[in-house]
Amino acid sequence: MRLIRKDFVKDGSFCQRCVDKYNKRTPIRKGSAWIYEQGGREYIVGPTCRKEIPNWRDSIPDLTKGALEIAQEGSALGGGGGGGNTLDRESEEHSRGAEAYLYLRFRHLEEFINAPALEWQVEIWEQFQKTGELTVFERARMEGFIRKQKGKEFSLSHLAGVYAAKYWIEEYISRRPKNSFLPGALQFLKSQTALSPKQVGVVNKCFERSPITFRLKNEPFAWWNKKKRSTPSP
Ligand SMILES: [Zn+2]
Repeated sequence: MRLIRKDFVKDGSFCQRCVDKYNKRTPIRKGSAWIYEQGGREYIVGPTCRKEIPNWRDSIPDLTKGALEIAQEGSALGGGGGGGNTLDRESEEHSRGAEAYLYLRFRHLEEFINAPALEWQVEIWEQFQKTGELTVFERARMEGFIRKQKGKEFSLSHLAGVYAAKYWIEEYISRRPKNSFLPGALQFLKSQTALSPKQVGVVNKCFERSPITFRLKNEPFAWWNKKKRSTPSP
């Protein structure tokens, strides 16, 4: 059984398949790649080699959708990487939301979220890690939950938004360590699991002046702004 996902990767990552097959280091562009687990190891593969993974046509959970990619003009990060268009279109749909939710909630944002996890979800997550798949019942239960969370804290969109914001802000800070605003925004994100519209605006302004071709969205944090407005100030 194999666990496959599309996920953010560290800057400087390269396609493992190209190394094994051609002894060649193909860098991963745009910060994300397909990752599959086998024998307790994670393999990172780029968009071309992804097609060599068995069942690559199956939809796979995409954990990178919390930020928007903007059309780029000759950006350094952009790069060709043929066939990109189809893949981009594919990743716009939210299929495999149940799996994406489990990865985000239990693997990536565990330390961000200080609400106790729902026991039945922990059970599904543990089972999923062992078998690499969800039963029809488990999927239906997760999807029902995700539907009910829409627009709220702990929605799929919220978790994906926090994860993408964390990734891109950290990415920016590692490139521009002298920036004085973003470390504070990151701290805020970690304590509130949200950013205010103003913070999103400033972060995106910084991104605009950098090679980062992604922009944070406000929508994942809308629940937080609503909550803030309805809480009377002390
Ligand atoms: Zn490759």
